[in-house]
Amino acid sequence: ILRESNKSISRQATTDELTGLPNRHLLLDRLDTAVRRSSPVARLSCAVLVIDIDNLRRFNEAFGHAAGDQLLCDIASRLKRIAGTHHTLARYGGDEFVLLVSESTADDAIRRAEEVSTHIVEAVSPPFSVAGITTVVTVSIGIAISGEDGDTADLLVQRAKLATTQSPRSSVNNWRFFNHQKNERAQRQLVIERNMWRALQNGEFSIAWQPVVTASTRQFAKAEALLRWTNVELGVISPDEFIGIAERSGLIVEVGDWVLDQACRQAANWQRERAQPLAICVNVSALQLRRPGFCASVATVLKNRALPASLLELEFTENIMIDDDAIVLAQIRELRALGVSLSLDDFGTGFSSLSYLTRFDFSTLKIDRTFVSALESDERSRRLADSICAIGKSLGLALVAEGVETEAQRQFLQDEGCDEFQGWLFAPALDSLSFEQRLVQAKPVSDAPAARPAPHHRRIRLVR
Ligand code: C2E
Ligand code: CA
Ligand code: CA
Repeated sequence: ILRESNKSISRQATTDELTGLPNRHLLLDRLDTAVRRSSPVARLSCAVLVIDIDNLRRFNEAFGHAAGDQLLCDIASRLKRIAGTHHTLARYGGDEFVLLVSESTADDAIRRAEEVSTHIVEAVSPPFSVAGITTVVTVSIGIAISGEDGDTADLLVQRAKLATTQSPRSSVNNWRFFNHQKNERAQRQLVIERNMWRALQNGEFSIAWQPVVTASTRQFAKAEALLRWTNVELGVISPDEFIGIAERSGLIVEVGDWVLDQACRQAANWQRERAQPLAICVNVSALQLRRPGFCASVATVLKNRALPASLLELEFTENIMIDDDAIVLAQIRELRALGVSLSLDDFGTGFSSLSYLTRFDFSTLKIDRTFVSALESDERSRRLADSICAIGKSLGLALVAEGVETEAQRQFLQDEGCDEFQGWLFAPALDSLSFEQRLVQAKPVSDAPAARPAPHHRRIRLVR
């Protein structure tokens, strides 16, 4: 009996009686552990979300505490579904819940906090029905990130709480970071995302073409399609900024379909107009590849646009291999069977694994421009570029170096056996008209002018 009652006492000490959720003590205890463990080195970080129920007091006054308690329980159960088993949800005070989100890096914690906050706002937005009363509930969410915003449990909760009340609430989201810069960043992302939904219909997207040249002849070998976006409100937005947002919101699937279709249409035109066919490269996001039927949609586009599969190369990054191995592998096989070529983009920056290279049947490796740009200054990058070239060669893959800006870089990479180059030394991404003009100007190999060395021509010495 004593043991049972001890258990019951400890349960009471850690559990909120009304909702059955962990209470303030347990939350602070867990948060304390999380904060102690978190550090950039350990790759552990956490976000604290304080969820404040707006106007609960007025509801209590109008309909009584029993109805108020019932409403709290209903809210708790909607929140529980979002917290799942990954995150700790606690009832922190009368009308406050706290959600503890643990992630590997501060950036991940920030992103997850944004995502979870959106889900919370969505989850509480359908009306609640309590004791015959239908009521609408709104919440204010404040977020603090471990390390950056505080290094104790108390401080983090205090700052997240402060964020719930801090700045005037915007009409588009009900959550705020303690740190203002993060709010501005989140706000901009939200504006970008909202505008992107309409961008396709409004015809705001276009494709720029960047030539890939053959190392030995400097002739255009293929062209990479690069998405461009100009919006009336936001101006020109860089793909580095909007592609990530399109991926997180799932919009990349629709936008990627559009790019593929338009790029193939353009390539088919070039093929009709030119004696020598020109292959095109199209970037494909992991989300597109994972969608069932992706390969069939590629086949349809090729057929509709009357483009031979051999003129299409799809570029993937290493993150396609993170999960769903079987699905990805099946799609890749199907694509190969179609006759399109596959290249591995940004090689060396992601989850490089040599076994992937052999299993996925790529034909080309693209050496990421971060290595190329550091060739002249950084010995480690030279060694890495050197090894990447050796790996590629030994597996029989074609090597493309991206972001080649100087003659010295070109020389080094050519010595290492790169087959093709892409970069501002040769040409930037061009609109299709300028690209066509450059194509026409390009002379046959025999009478091409000798390569003009860059003003500060310098050979990179490889120290082995
Ligand atoms: P990426 O696929 O690695 O594309 C090459 C990027 O390097 C392009 O940036 C290009 O303009 C830039 N670049 C080319 N030569 C040089 C150079 O010599 N120096 C420097 N510093 N940069 C150079 P961009 O167009 O801003 O695209 C950025 C990224 O956005 C792309 O990187 C790609 O990951 C993504 N992206 C662009 N279009 C699409 C698309 O249609 N679908 C998907 N999923 N991603 C896309
Ligand atoms: Ca690419
Ligand atoms: Ca790349």
